[in-house]
Amino acid sequence: MKKKTFFQRVSGYVDQAAKFTQYPTGLIKQIKECNSIYKFNFPVKVGKEYEVITGYRVQHSHHRLPVKGGIRFSENVHEDEVKALAALMTYKCALVDVPFGGAKGGVRINTRNYSEETLEAITRRYTTELINKNFISPALDVPAPDYGTGAREMAWIADTYSTFRPEEINSNGCVTGKPVSMHGIRGRTEATGRGVFFGLREVVNMAEDMEKIGLTPGLEGKKVIVQGLGNVGYHAAKYLQEGGVIIIGIAEYNGGVYDPNGLDVEEVRQKMTDTGTVMDYKNAKNVEDANALLEYECDILVPAALEGQITIDNAPRIKAKIVGEAANGPITAGAEEILLQKGIMIIPDLYLNAGGVTVSYFEWLKNLSHVSFGRMDKRYEELTNTSMIKAMEEAIGQPISHIYRDRLIKGPNELDIVNSGLEETMVNAYQDVREIMLRDSIPDLRTACFVTSVSKVATSYISRGIFP
Ligand code: NAD
Repeated sequence: MKKKTFFQRVSGYVDQAAKFTQYPTGLIKQIKECNSIYKFNFPVKVGKEYEVITGYRVQHSHHRLPVKGGIRFSENVHEDEVKALAALMTYKCALVDVPFGGAKGGVRINTRNYSEETLEAITRRYTTELINKNFISPALDVPAPDYGTGAREMAWIADTYSTFRPEEINSNGCVTGKPVSMHGIRGRTEATGRGVFFGLREVVNMAEDMEKIGLTPGLEGKKVIVQGLGNVGYHAAKYLQEGGVIIIGIAEYNGGVYDPNGLDVEEVRQKMTDTGTVMDYKNAKNVEDANALLEYECDILVPAALEGQITIDNAPRIKAKIVGEAANGPITAGAEEILLQKGIMIIPDLYLNAGGVTVSYFEWLKNLSHVSFGRMDKRYEELTNTSMIKAMEEAIGQPISHIYRDRLIKGPNELDIVNSGLEETMVNAYQDVREIMLRDSIPDLRTACFVTSVSKVATSYISRGIFP
């Protein structure tokens, strides 16, 4: 049997979900297709030579505008991958009620082969191509970071866009994931990883679900292995560790480390920054073939690197009770069947890594309103709270302990509001999906996520009168 491509795999999930709905076939077909695909080649001077670089931007669904999705810099970028990732964005946004269609961008380069100067030239030229074709704007298409890109690249994109469109008052909203000093939002960098933590915490708190897979409820003491210590993997590992789990393994592209007594995430990350590898960390065991770490005994496995990491080859040897997809598409379709047969619980990407796009949405709102969250009401709330505490202290005839006093008086700043919005989103989305799964007797979480998302996208098309 021919292996399904990544995009076919995502479309297959929609077909599977459609069996639990009553929508007409034409509508499901429209939902699955990519609305616009833009592929382009452009020259960039590297040293004395010119190199031709290939870029993509795919807008999967215009059912809501703007469309939204990250930009990936990787030597493996190709059209099918960008299409699949764009489609996943549509379903992800719908799932967490972020009112955007889905999109994704890609540039086929290995960032390790270029200087910072050349990366800037590539990013600015890529942005210019998008501007020329109306594939970027706060109203139409808003990129964000993904594998191989971060706040630095988003700053170059925002700067290029506003240079071309100085008259656009909302130009800062053309891209999210910017540095805070360039109209970004506090909490965006760590949002995806923090969302992975909120999501996994919610999943393992459901005692009856945990009983079915032989785990006790709660994160405390759970043994976790993480693949990829980049933006998502590092932050997920850091918050999970703070939440009480023991990080026993970390896999990177050039080797991994394992210690059943626990690794200090912060120290391992520092080691990687200083030496380029996580290996040789204290007394931890080096794992030269880091992929082997995916097969080690643990409670939760968190792939946070790239797609296609768990395949029919290694799936039979996966021993984790839960696989939390922090990366997009880390489990192939064949592997998924094997894992589910083994009774392993899969927490799907479109739910688990939705924290990034959720906080990107908050950043976009901030850019359109031209004011940071908390600025208008923080002080007012603190004054009101102080009066309330004073009245309470008078009524009970004694002062309240200063620990509670400070906590009760404090008005929320931008980071407090962002984190609370993120937590609310991740908790609600999981409970919604779980309810639909139980209501419709859906066999697995991924199908339940897709049923939820597809229903929302379908409703959006129907309410616009496009389908009966
Ligand atoms: P990143 O570039 O910051 O980090 C990726 C890390 O994975 C790097 O440290 C890299 O060295 C490592 N890696 C690469 N190949 C590996 C391998 N074979 N084994 C182990 N490690 C390997 O990228 P990121 O932003 O953290 O994205 C990771 C995944 O999360 C991607 O699938 C991306 O689509 C997804 N994602 C990212 C965001 C975001 O906000 N950045 C949001 C949603 C989903």
